[in-house]
Amino acid sequence: MTPVPVPFLRPQLPSLEQVGAYYRLAEEARFFSNGGPCETLLRTRLSDYLGGVGCVPVTNATSGIMVAVRAAIDAAGTGDRRYVVMPSYTFVATAGSVRMLGFEPLFVDVEPGAWQLDADALDDVLAARAGEIAAVLGTHTFGLPPAAAVQRRWTAACREHGVPLVVDAAAGFGALDDEGTRTGRDVVAHVYSFHATKAFAIGEGGVVTTNDEDLLERIEALHHFGFSSGRVAEYAGVNAKLDELHSASALAVLDGYDEVLRRRRAIAAFYREHLEPHGFTFQAGSDGGTWQAGYLSAPDAATRSAVLAGAKEGRVGVTAYYDRPVHQHPAYADAPVHGDLPVTLALATRALALPMANDLSEAEQQRVVEVVLHSARLATVS
Ligand SMILES: *Cc1c(COP(=O)(O)O)cnc(C)c1O
Repeated sequence: MTPVPVPFLRPQLPSLEQVGAYYRLAEEARFFSNGGPCETLLRTRLSDYLGGVGCVPVTNATSGIMVAVRAAIDAAGTGDRRYVVMPSYTFVATAGSVRMLGFEPLFVDVEPGAWQLDADALDDVLAARAGEIAAVLGTHTFGLPPAAAVQRRWTAACREHGVPLVVDAAAGFGALDDEGTRTGRDVVAHVYSFHATKAFAIGEGGVVTTNDEDLLERIEALHHFGFSSGRVAEYAGVNAKLDELHSASALAVLDGYDEVLRRRRAIAAFYREHLEPHGFTFQAGSDGGTWQAGYLSAPDAATRSAVLAGAKEGRVGVTAYYDRPVHQHPAYADAPVHGDLPVTLALATRALALPMANDLSEAEQQRVVEVVLHSARLATVS
């Protein structure tokens, strides 16, 4: 008997019925975008969920990053500088959004325990490139924030150098830091994705959050053609507004989101319990993660190769993750790199993502663990 395949991700969006319960509000109002009843309600509900922060729903995180970085740079008056500092160990959208704004990514390393933007490297690049850095785009790697003290270091370093900080926390809506605080409740703008493959899944969508009134006003305007009041463009903006149907969908997700996170964290805990004793490592602080997938690092590159091969043969959806750091993609090969990025390069040879779904069964979880351990043992024997 061949075991049934386990897919890498099995996105689960709210049912049409759940979405319809909210979408009805838009139908009744005959108001389908530009801040209709669903989008207005969504802002309030997201803000409540995050403890009162300003929230601007957007079409996706990539457009949200563009709008937030532009707003932060305009507010800080650093637009005549060339570089936006970011880790290379991230998704290409972090760099793409910056290039689309006309700035150049400047890649720095992550640190080995939590795979987050290295605060020492950040200090170093801010000093070495003083006057050339327009902004820092920190990331919450795999949606997980760094320790609160580390993010405070990012914030302090940026403030000291007069450079704005924006955080691409795309996969991490609802994540908790090591002090138990939900991310995004900050003056620093945080950007989240509601893509179908994230834990908060509606298809395409996202939200930008900030407690900074001036920044919020700019983000608000920039995502709506640059209009700040009426139909006069105060800023050179785009259209990144979330429409009513997607807003209705996000409201339906929010209704069940605590349960989504509870399940994903339980699955991750199962992976951790069974794989950590065998030399696999997890991101430091990962208890508070949102678990878009089951991220972990193999003990070495050979073990990862063996796991990928074994999983393919066993039809279990395991993938390598960020195995090509952004600075090694052709589009960014000419962008500057600060140092040799040894941690990024090592992680790129070892990181794995295991299957994840809200409804991944116990049998499926068991099978994932068996396939990983079985393949890993092959690697050390041969
Ligand atoms: C998913 C992701 C994005 C892109 O989000 P979209 O909503 O699909 O635009 C950007 N950055 C990171 C780190 C991501 O994981």
